[in-house]
Amino acid sequence: MTDAAIPITQSAVEQFTERYLTFLGSTIKREGDRWEVTVPGEAETEIPSGQLVLFCGDAAADLGENERQLHPESSFFQEIIDEASERQPTGKITISSKNTQIEIPQWLQENNINVNDATFTPYYDRSAIAIHYRISIETVSEYQTELLRVTAIDIRSMERLPNLEETFLESTLPTEPQIESQPVDVEKSTADELIAQTREQIVERVQPKIDEIHQEASRSADAEIEEYRQMQQQRIEELEEKKTRLSDRIQDLSESIQQSSDEGDRVEALQKRKELNSEYEDVDSELEELHHRREQGFPRKQREIRERHALEVIVSPLTITQIEYERGELVLELEEGTVTRSLTLGYGDGVGITDELDCEFCHQTLGEHNSLRTIQEGLQCSQCYSN
Ligand SMILES: [Zn+2]
Repeated sequence: MTDAAIPITQSAVEQFTERYLTFLGSTIKREGDRWEVTVPGEAETEIPSGQLVLFCGDAAADLGENERQLHPESSFFQEIIDEASERQPTGKITISSKNTQIEIPQWLQENNINVNDATFTPYYDRSAIAIHYRISIETVSEYQTELLRVTAIDIRSMERLPNLEETFLESTLPTEPQIESQPVDVEKSTADELIAQTREQIVERVQPKIDEIHQEASRSADAEIEEYRQMQQQRIEELEEKKTRLSDRIQDLSESIQQSSDEGDRVEALQKRKELNSEYEDVDSELEELHHRREQGFPRKQREIRERHALEVIVSPLTITQIEYERGELVLELEEGTVTRSLTLGYGDGVGITDELDCEFCHQTLGEHNSLRTIQEGLQCSQCYSN
C-alpha cells in the first residue's frame, strides 16, 4: 500500500504532465530532472506557448520567467490538473484484465520466495468512484497551501482502494483509450453521498499537513503576541519614567511656590503646576489601564492576532470518475527451495489484492511492514519468525 498521505507520487505527476503536454502537441527534451518543453502556438491551453523549463527535483528558489517547478503541490501541476479537469469533468474508465498487468505485492516475494505463476479469474464487475479533491489551507494572513488528492472508493462496499487511486491518476487524460465518452451512470444522490463520506476521509489523510501548517500559524501568532507584549512593556517603562519626571518637577514647583515672594512668578508657577498635574493624571491613568490590560494578557489583541492566523480548510471535489473494474480470484504459486504452495486471494484489476492475509503462526496481518518470511511449515511472517 502506498503512503496514504501522498497518493499522488512524483512519478505519477511526471507521467501525467508528460502525457498532457504531449497531448497539447508539445515537445519535451528531458535531461535528468530538467525538462525543456516547447508548447506550440496553436495549442488550446492556458500554458504560454514557446519555451518552458520544468524542474522535477529540488529546483533553485529563484525561477526565471519561463521556469516552473513540477511536483504534486506545485502551482504548475495544479494548473495542468485544472485544465485537464475542465476538459473531462466526469467520465467513465473501464479497467480490465486485458490491459493491466497482475500486481503482486513485494512483501509476498521477498526472502527467497518466488512467485512462479499468477492467474487471475475475474468473476464479477464492480464499480468504483474516483474523486479528485483540491484542499486549500488558508489563513487570513499571507500564506496559502493547496493540496491535491484522489480518493477511490468501491460504490457497493464503500472500501477505499488506494491502488486504484494510482491506477486512476495514470489514466485520467482524455487522450487515454480507456476513457469512454459515456456519462457517469451513478445516481447523483449516490455521488453526493460518496462525496460527503470521502470529504471527511480526505481531510483525515491530509491532517498531518494541516497540523503542521496550524503549528506554524500558532508559532507566528505567538511571536506576534510576544512582540506586542514587549512593545507594551516598553511603553509602561517609558510612562513610569515620565511619571517620575513629572512628579519631581511638580515637587520642585511646589517648593518654589512656597518660597517665592514675587506675585507674578507665583502665578506663573501655579499655572505651570496645574498643567503638569493634569499631564501627570493623564500619564497615570494610561499606565493604570496598561497595567490592567497586561494583567489580563491583552485579550482583545490576542483574539485579533489569533483570528488573523486561524486556518480555513476548504475541500472541493474537482472531478468525479466512475471506474468499472473486475473482481475475482488470484491464484499464486509460491516456491521456496523445494517447497511449493498455492495461495488463493481475492483480487481486483487496478485494485490489487483485496483480502487480508494472516500469518498462520501468530495471526498478524502480512503486508508492506510485515513481509512473508517463509512457506516451509506454512505461511510465516517476518515478525514472529525472528522471535
Ligand atoms: Zn507470524
